[in-house]
Amino acid sequence: MINDDEKVRAIFRDNVGRRRRHERWLFGAFAVFVVSVLAASLDRSWAWRPMGWLPFLAWLVTAGLIVLAPPLMCGCCNKTLDKALARYCPECGADAIERPGPHKLAVCDHCASCHRTLTRGRRRSRRWKIRFCTYCGALLDETGV
Ligand SMILES: [Zn+2]
Ligand SMILES: [Zn+2]
Repeated sequence: MINDDEKVRAIFRDNVGRRRRHERWLFGAFAVFVVSVLAASLDRSWAWRPMGWLPFLAWLVTAGLIVLAPPLMCGCCNKTLDKALARYCPECGADAIERPGPHKLAVCDHCASCHRTLTRGRRRSRRWKIRFCTYCGALLDETGV
């Protein structure tokens, strides 16, 4: 059992490492895009013509990297964890998520065990850390991702 838990956590660490590397590339491509657009708008005479393809290419790479971002997967049940909120609280692992029903005053998902509000930000980005798998409750990372 302990070995299994270790394996699940190792798989998740692998996932996180891949995602981090991916985000570095994404940041790099976006930086190239910003710098090339700035250079092109500051000095059209020399920069824009030979470098005209660069902002476009950098933008394409950035968009491609966003689309192709490697998902964070649970090593136990193989479900994608990134944006979903299922049965278990990703912060404390408790089966205690309260959903905002039509008759409740709460406006967002909330954990009755650790009292964290599990909100999504704009563009559905997640605002909580992943410590536990929200689908099967497996411990994935003690510190949280
Ligand atoms: Zn799982
Ligand atoms: Zn919780």
